[in-house]
Amino acid sequence: MFKGILIQKDDAGYRSELTELDEAQLPEGDVTVAVSHSTLNYKDALAITGKGSVVRSFPMVPGVDLAGTVEHSIHPDVQAGDAVLLNGWGVGESHWGGLAQKARLNGDWLVPLPDAFTPQQAMALGTAGYTAMLCVLALERQGVSPGDGEILVTGAAGGVGSVAIAVLTQLGYTVVAVSGRPEESEYLKSLGAVEILDRAAFAAPGKPLGKARWAGAVDVVGGQMLANICATTRYRGVVTACGLAGGMDFPSTVAPFILRGVTLVGIDSVMCPRPERLEAWQRLGKNLDVAKLAAISREIGLANVLSIAPELLNGNVRGRVVVDVNR
Ligand code: NDP
Repeated sequence: MFKGILIQKDDAGYRSELTELDEAQLPEGDVTVAVSHSTLNYKDALAITGKGSVVRSFPMVPGVDLAGTVEHSIHPDVQAGDAVLLNGWGVGESHWGGLAQKARLNGDWLVPLPDAFTPQQAMALGTAGYTAMLCVLALERQGVSPGDGEILVTGAAGGVGSVAIAVLTQLGYTVVAVSGRPEESEYLKSLGAVEILDRAAFAAPGKPLGKARWAGAVDVVGGQMLANICATTRYRGVVTACGLAGGMDFPSTVAPFILRGVTLVGIDSVMCPRPERLEAWQRLGKNLDVAKLAAISREIGLANVLSIAPELLNGNVRGRVVVDVNR
Protein backbone atom coordinates (compact mmCIF):
# COMPACT_ATOMS: atom_id res chain seq x y z
CA MET A 1 0.00 0.00 0.00
CA PHE A 2 1.10 3.60 -0.53
CA LYS A 3 -0.31 7.09 -0.01
CA GLY A 4 -1.72 9.29 -2.75
CA ILE A 5 -4.27 11.96 -3.61
CA LEU A 6 -7.26 10.45 -5.40
CA ILE A 7 -9.88 12.40 -7.38
CA GLN A 8 -13.25 10.75 -7.83
CA LYS A 9 -16.39 11.80 -9.68
CA ASP A 10 -19.57 9.78 -9.31
CA ASP A 11 -23.11 10.06 -7.93
CA ALA A 12 -21.61 11.37 -4.66
CA GLY A 13 -20.06 14.30 -6.59
CA TYR A 14 -16.53 15.53 -7.43
CA ARG A 15 -14.06 15.06 -4.57
CA SER A 16 -10.33 14.79 -3.85
CA GLU A 17 -8.90 13.02 -0.81
CA LEU A 18 -5.62 11.75 0.60
CA THR A 19 -5.96 7.98 0.76
CA GLU A 20 -4.16 4.60 0.84
CA LEU A 21 -3.75 3.03 -2.60
CA ASP A 22 -2.87 -0.51 -3.60
CA GLU A 23 -0.06 -1.17 -6.10
CA ALA A 24 -2.50 -3.40 -8.01
CA GLN A 25 -4.57 -0.26 -8.76
CA LEU A 26 -1.70 1.42 -10.65
CA PRO A 27 -2.28 1.87 -14.40
CA GLU A 28 -0.38 0.02 -17.12
CA GLY A 29 3.20 1.02 -17.84
CA ASP A 30 6.68 -0.43 -18.34
CA VAL A 31 8.34 1.52 -15.50
CA THR A 32 7.43 1.83 -11.81
CA VAL A 33 8.85 4.87 -10.01
CA ALA A 34 9.20 5.40 -6.26
CA VAL A 35 8.21 9.07 -6.23
CA SER A 36 10.11 11.34 -3.84
CA HIS A 37 8.77 14.75 -4.86
CA SER A 38 5.96 16.19 -6.96
CA THR A 39 4.62 19.72 -7.31
CA LEU A 40 1.44 21.72 -7.29
CA ASN A 41 0.91 23.44 -10.63
CA TYR A 42 -1.98 25.66 -11.69
CA LYS A 43 -3.36 22.72 -13.68
CA ASP A 44 -3.12 20.38 -10.65
CA ALA A 45 -5.04 22.92 -8.58
CA LEU A 46 -7.77 23.03 -11.27
CA ALA A 47 -7.93 19.21 -11.23
CA ILE A 48 -8.01 18.91 -7.41
CA THR A 49 -10.67 21.57 -6.90
CA GLY A 50 -12.70 20.52 -9.97
CA LYS A 51 -12.67 24.16 -11.14
CA GLY A 52 -11.43 23.20 -14.60
CA SER A 53 -12.09 20.14 -16.75
CA VAL A 54 -8.54 18.83 -16.50
CA VAL A 55 -9.19 15.22 -15.48
CA ARG A 56 -10.19 12.99 -18.40
CA SER A 57 -10.94 9.71 -16.54
CA PHE A 58 -11.84 8.79 -12.96
CA PRO A 59 -10.59 7.84 -10.44
CA MET A 60 -7.40 9.86 -11.05
CA VAL A 61 -4.22 10.57 -9.12
CA PRO A 62 -3.35 14.20 -10.03
CA GLY A 63 0.16 15.62 -10.42
CA VAL A 64 1.58 16.57 -13.83
CA ASP A 65 5.15 16.43 -12.44
CA LEU A 66 7.18 13.89 -10.52
CA ALA A 67 10.77 13.08 -9.57
CA GLY A 68 12.00 9.87 -8.04
CA THR A 69 13.92 6.64 -8.48
CA VAL A 70 13.04 3.80 -10.85
CA GLU A 71 11.96 0.78 -8.82
CA HIS A 72 11.22 -1.64 -11.66
CA SER A 73 11.59 -1.40 -15.44
CA ILE A 74 11.09 -3.51 -18.54
CA HIS A 75 11.82 -0.47 -20.77
CA PRO A 76 15.12 -1.00 -22.66
CA ASP A 77 16.49 2.50 -21.88
CA VAL A 78 15.45 2.73 -18.23
CA GLN A 79 17.08 0.78 -15.39
CA ALA A 80 16.10 0.19 -11.78
CA GLY A 81 17.90 2.78 -9.65
CA ASP A 82 17.82 5.54 -12.31
CA ALA A 83 17.01 9.03 -11.00
CA VAL A 84 14.27 10.42 -13.26
CA LEU A 85 11.73 13.20 -13.65
CA LEU A 86 8.57 13.57 -15.66
CA ASN A 87 6.48 16.52 -16.88
CA GLY A 88 3.19 16.29 -18.75
CA TRP A 89 2.31 13.69 -21.39
CA GLY A 90 -1.23 13.67 -19.93
CA VAL A 91 0.02 12.37 -16.58
CA GLY A 92 -2.32 13.63 -13.84
CA GLU A 93 -5.02 14.14 -16.51
CA SER A 94 -5.60 10.83 -18.29
CA HIS A 95 -2.89 8.66 -16.62
CA TRP A 96 -2.24 8.50 -12.84
CA GLY A 97 0.23 11.20 -11.84
CA GLY A 98 2.86 12.28 -9.34
CA LEU A 99 0.90 13.21 -6.21
CA ALA A 100 1.39 9.72 -4.74
CA GLN A 101 4.29 7.70 -3.41
CA LYS A 102 4.36 5.43 -6.48
CA ALA A 103 3.68 5.85 -10.20
CA ARG A 104 3.58 3.40 -13.11
CA LEU A 105 4.44 5.06 -16.40
CA ASN A 106 5.57 4.76 -20.00
CA GLY A 107 9.39 4.83 -19.90
CA ASP A 108 9.45 7.03 -23.04
CA TRP A 109 8.02 9.87 -20.92
CA LEU A 110 10.90 9.93 -18.44
CA VAL A 111 13.77 12.44 -18.48
CA PRO A 112 17.03 11.63 -16.64
CA LEU A 113 17.39 13.88 -13.60
CA PRO A 114 19.95 16.56 -14.64
CA ASP A 115 23.19 16.44 -12.61
CA ALA A 116 22.67 20.08 -11.64
CA PHE A 117 19.57 19.32 -9.55
CA THR A 118 18.43 17.22 -6.62
CA PRO A 119 14.91 15.73 -7.07
CA GLN A 120 13.63 18.48 -4.74
CA GLN A 121 15.25 21.22 -6.86
CA ALA A 122 13.98 19.67 -10.12
CA MET A 123 10.47 19.82 -8.70
CA ALA A 124 11.02 23.38 -7.47
CA LEU A 125 11.19 24.01 -11.22
CA GLY A 126 8.66 21.39 -12.38
CA THR A 127 6.39 21.99 -15.36
CA ALA A 128 6.34 25.73 -14.62
CA GLY A 129 10.14 26.00 -14.79
CA TYR A 130 10.45 23.78 -17.82
CA THR A 131 7.71 25.82 -19.58
CA ALA A 132 9.52 29.05 -18.71
CA MET A 133 12.62 27.56 -20.38
CA LEU A 134 10.58 26.57 -23.46
CA CYS A 135 9.55 30.24 -23.70
CA VAL A 136 13.19 31.37 -23.44
CA LEU A 137 14.23 28.83 -26.11
CA ALA A 138 11.46 30.17 -28.39
CA LEU A 139 12.65 33.77 -27.92
CA GLU A 140 16.19 32.66 -28.79
CA ARG A 141 15.05 30.68 -31.84
CA GLN A 142 13.17 33.72 -33.12
CA GLY A 143 16.38 35.72 -32.81
CA VAL A 144 15.71 37.84 -29.70
CA SER A 145 19.03 38.58 -28.01
CA PRO A 146 19.83 40.46 -24.78
CA GLY A 147 20.87 43.62 -26.64
CA ASP A 148 17.51 43.94 -28.43
CA GLY A 149 15.63 45.57 -25.54
CA GLU A 150 13.33 44.82 -22.64
CA ILE A 151 11.54 41.50 -22.13
CA LEU A 152 8.16 41.63 -20.40
CA VAL A 153 7.22 38.75 -18.04
CA THR A 154 3.60 38.53 -16.81
CA GLY A 155 2.18 36.63 -13.83
CA ALA A 156 5.62 37.41 -12.51
CA ALA A 157 5.19 36.22 -8.91
CA GLY A 158 3.77 32.87 -10.07
CA GLY A 159 5.73 29.74 -11.03
CA VAL A 160 6.38 30.27 -14.75
CA GLY A 161 6.95 34.00 -14.24
CA SER A 162 9.45 33.60 -11.40
CA VAL A 163 11.60 31.07 -13.26
CA ALA A 164 11.40 33.07 -16.51
CA ILE A 165 12.75 36.17 -14.71
CA ALA A 166 15.57 34.19 -13.08
CA VAL A 167 16.68 32.52 -16.32
CA LEU A 168 16.34 35.59 -18.57
CA THR A 169 18.35 37.81 -16.22
CA GLN A 170 21.03 35.12 -15.86
CA LEU A 171 21.29 35.16 -19.67
CA GLY A 172 21.75 38.95 -19.66
CA TYR A 173 18.27 40.07 -20.75
CA THR A 174 16.66 43.16 -19.19
CA VAL A 175 13.40 42.00 -17.62
CA VAL A 176 10.33 44.07 -16.74
CA ALA A 177 7.81 42.18 -14.57
CA VAL A 178 4.02 42.54 -14.46
CA SER A 179 2.36 41.60 -11.20
CA GLY A 180 -0.91 42.17 -9.39
CA ARG A 181 0.91 41.89 -6.05
CA PRO A 182 2.91 45.05 -5.19
CA GLU A 183 4.00 43.34 -1.95
CA GLU A 184 6.10 40.95 -4.07
CA SER A 185 8.16 43.75 -5.69
CA GLU A 186 11.28 43.10 -3.59
CA TYR A 187 11.04 39.36 -4.36
CA LEU A 188 10.77 40.07 -8.10
CA LYS A 189 13.74 42.46 -7.96
CA SER A 190 15.76 39.81 -6.08
CA LEU A 191 15.13 37.47 -9.04
CA GLY A 192 16.51 40.15 -11.39
CA ALA A 193 13.55 42.25 -12.64
CA VAL A 194 14.58 45.90 -13.17
CA GLU A 195 11.04 47.31 -13.03
CA ILE A 196 7.68 46.08 -11.77
CA LEU A 197 4.49 47.18 -13.56
CA ASP A 198 1.01 46.92 -12.10
CA ARG A 199 -1.15 44.29 -13.73
CA ALA A 200 -4.02 46.81 -13.77
CA ALA A 201 -2.17 48.90 -16.40
CA PHE A 202 -2.76 46.07 -18.92
CA ALA A 203 -6.36 45.26 -17.96
CA ALA A 204 -8.38 47.68 -20.10
CA PRO A 205 -8.89 47.33 -23.87
CA GLY A 206 -6.18 49.36 -25.61
CA LYS A 207 -5.62 50.64 -29.14
CA PRO A 208 -4.71 48.14 -31.92
CA LEU A 209 -1.16 49.57 -31.71
CA GLY A 210 0.36 51.33 -28.70
CA LYS A 211 3.79 52.82 -27.96
CA ALA A 212 6.26 50.09 -29.01
CA ARG A 213 8.36 48.96 -26.02
CA TRP A 214 8.98 45.18 -25.72
CA ALA A 215 11.60 43.25 -27.67
CA GLY A 216 10.02 40.06 -26.34
CA ALA A 217 7.53 38.76 -23.82
CA VAL A 218 6.70 35.69 -21.75
CA ASP A 219 2.95 35.76 -21.11
CA VAL A 220 1.14 33.38 -18.76
CA VAL A 221 -2.04 35.47 -18.49
CA GLY A 222 -3.71 35.55 -21.94
CA GLY A 223 -6.91 37.59 -22.46
CA GLN A 224 -6.68 41.38 -22.60
CA MET A 225 -3.14 41.26 -21.17
CA LEU A 226 -1.85 39.28 -24.17
CA ALA A 227 -3.68 41.57 -26.61
CA ASN A 228 -2.17 44.68 -24.99
CA ILE A 229 1.32 43.13 -24.98
CA CYS A 230 1.13 42.36 -28.69
CA ALA A 231 -0.03 45.95 -29.34
CA THR A 232 3.01 47.38 -27.50
CA THR A 233 5.67 45.01 -28.84
CA ARG A 234 8.42 46.53 -30.95
CA TYR A 235 8.97 46.01 -34.66
CA ARG A 236 9.75 42.28 -35.23
CA GLY A 237 9.46 41.54 -31.52
CA VAL A 238 8.44 38.10 -30.23
CA VAL A 239 5.66 37.25 -27.77
CA THR A 240 5.49 33.75 -26.26
CA ALA A 241 2.04 32.72 -24.99
CA CYS A 242 1.85 29.80 -22.58
CA GLY A 243 -0.97 30.48 -20.12
CA LEU A 244 -4.51 31.57 -19.42
CA ALA A 245 -4.38 32.74 -15.80
CA GLY A 246 -6.38 35.82 -16.89
CA GLY A 247 -8.60 34.22 -19.48
CA MET A 248 -8.91 32.07 -22.57
CA ASP A 249 -9.93 34.81 -24.98
CA PHE A 250 -7.61 36.87 -27.15
CA PRO A 251 -9.23 40.21 -28.04
CA SER A 252 -6.48 41.41 -30.39
CA THR A 253 -6.38 42.82 -33.92
CA VAL A 254 -4.00 41.75 -36.68
CA ALA A 255 -2.29 45.18 -36.57
CA PRO A 256 0.78 44.12 -34.49
CA PHE A 257 1.39 41.15 -36.80
CA ILE A 258 0.94 42.81 -40.21
CA LEU A 259 2.24 46.31 -39.40
CA ARG A 260 5.06 45.55 -36.95
CA GLY A 261 5.91 41.98 -37.98
CA VAL A 262 5.37 40.79 -34.41
CA THR A 263 5.61 37.02 -33.92
CA LEU A 264 3.28 35.26 -31.50
CA VAL A 265 4.68 31.86 -30.47
CA GLY A 266 2.44 29.28 -28.77
CA ILE A 267 4.12 27.20 -26.07
CA ASP A 268 2.89 23.74 -25.04
CA SER A 269 4.76 21.71 -22.46
CA VAL A 270 2.49 18.64 -22.31
CA MET A 271 3.15 17.03 -25.70
CA CYS A 272 6.45 18.81 -26.41
CA PRO A 273 8.76 16.38 -28.27
CA ARG A 274 11.43 14.65 -26.20
CA PRO A 275 14.53 16.30 -27.79
CA GLU A 276 13.22 19.76 -26.89
CA ARG A 277 12.41 18.63 -23.33
CA LEU A 278 15.94 17.31 -22.90
CA GLU A 279 17.29 20.60 -24.26
CA ALA A 280 15.08 22.63 -21.90
CA TRP A 281 16.21 20.64 -18.83
CA GLN A 282 19.84 20.79 -19.91
CA ARG A 283 19.58 24.57 -20.33
CA LEU A 284 17.86 24.96 -16.93
CA GLY A 285 20.85 23.11 -15.45
CA LYS A 286 23.20 25.57 -17.16
CA ASN A 287 21.32 28.90 -17.10
CA LEU A 288 19.53 28.98 -13.75
CA ASP A 289 21.19 30.11 -10.55
CA VAL A 290 20.12 27.26 -8.22
CA ALA A 291 20.62 29.59 -5.26
CA LYS A 292 17.43 31.40 -6.42
CA LEU A 293 15.35 28.22 -6.09
CA ALA A 294 15.11 28.60 -2.32
CA ALA A 295 13.35 31.96 -2.75
CA ILE A 296 11.18 30.74 -5.63
CA SER A 297 9.86 27.59 -3.91
CA ARG A 298 8.54 26.20 -0.69
CA GLU A 299 7.93 22.60 0.33
CA ILE A 300 4.74 21.03 1.67
CA GLY A 301 3.68 17.46 2.50
CA LEU A 302 1.09 15.39 0.63
CA ALA A 303 -1.46 16.12 3.38
CA ASN A 304 -1.24 19.90 2.73
CA VAL A 305 -2.01 19.67 -1.00
CA LEU A 306 -5.80 19.80 -0.68
CA SER A 307 -5.80 23.06 1.32
CA ILE A 308 -3.13 24.83 -0.79
CA ALA A 309 -4.77 24.08 -4.19
CA PRO A 310 -7.58 26.70 -3.84
CA GLU A 311 -5.03 29.26 -2.57
CA LEU A 312 -2.97 28.75 -5.72
CA LEU A 313 -6.01 29.33 -7.95
CA ASN A 314 -6.76 32.53 -6.02
CA GLY A 315 -3.29 33.81 -6.97
CA ASN A 316 -2.12 33.85 -3.33
CA VAL A 317 0.82 31.47 -3.74
CA ARG A 318 4.25 32.89 -4.53
CA GLY A 319 6.52 31.00 -6.91
CA ARG A 320 6.50 27.22 -6.79
CA VAL A 321 5.11 24.62 -4.42
CA VAL A 322 7.16 21.40 -4.06
CA VAL A 323 5.39 18.38 -2.56
CA ASP A 324 7.43 15.88 -0.53
CA VAL A 325 5.15 12.87 -1.02
CA ASN A 326 6.76 11.02 1.88
CA ARG A 327 5.82 13.53 4.58
P1 NDP B 1 0.76 30.33 -10.92
O1 NDP B 1 -0.60 30.22 -10.33
O2 NDP B 1 1.96 29.95 -10.14
O3 NDP B 1 1.01 31.83 -11.46
C1 NDP B 1 0.07 32.51 -12.23
C2 NDP B 1 0.25 34.00 -11.95
O4 NDP B 1 -0.57 34.73 -12.87
C3 NDP B 1 -0.20 34.43 -10.56
O5 NDP B 1 0.79 34.23 -9.59
C4 NDP B 1 -0.46 35.91 -10.79
O6 NDP B 1 0.79 36.59 -10.79
C5 NDP B 1 -1.00 35.93 -12.24
N1 NDP B 1 -2.46 35.96 -12.28
C6 NDP B 1 -3.32 35.15 -11.62
N2 NDP B 1 -4.60 35.46 -11.91
C7 NDP B 1 -4.54 36.49 -12.79
C8 NDP B 1 -5.52 37.28 -13.47
N3 NDP B 1 -6.83 37.04 -13.31
N4 NDP B 1 -5.09 38.26 -14.28
C9 NDP B 1 -3.78 38.50 -14.46
N5 NDP B 1 -2.80 37.80 -13.83
C10 NDP B 1 -3.18 36.81 -13.02
O7 NDP B 1 0.68 29.47 -12.28
P2 NDP B 1 1.90 29.00 -13.21
O8 NDP B 1 2.93 30.04 -13.28
O9 NDP B 1 2.29 27.61 -12.88
O10 NDP B 1 1.12 28.92 -14.61
C11 NDP B 1 0.74 30.14 -15.24
C12 NDP B 1 -0.17 29.84 -16.43
O11 NDP B 1 0.55 29.10 -17.40
C13 NDP B 1 -1.42 29.03 -16.09
O12 NDP B 1 -2.48 29.51 -16.87
C14 NDP B 1 -1.04 27.63 -16.51
O13 NDP B 1 -2.16 26.86 -16.83
C15 NDP B 1 -0.17 27.92 -17.72
N6 NDP B 1 0.80 26.87 -18.01
C16 NDP B 1 0.82 26.42 -19.29
C17 NDP B 1 1.72 25.48 -19.66
C18 NDP B 1 1.77 25.06 -21.08
O14 NDP B 1 2.26 23.96 -21.37
N7 NDP B 1 1.33 25.89 -22.00
C19 NDP B 1 2.61 24.84 -18.68
C20 NDP B 1 2.58 25.47 -17.36
C21 NDP B 1 1.67 26.43 -17.05
P3 NDP B 1 0.95 38.03 -10.12
O15 NDP B 1 0.31 37.93 -8.76
O16 NDP B 1 2.41 38.28 -10.07
O17 NDP B 1 0.21 39.00 -11.02
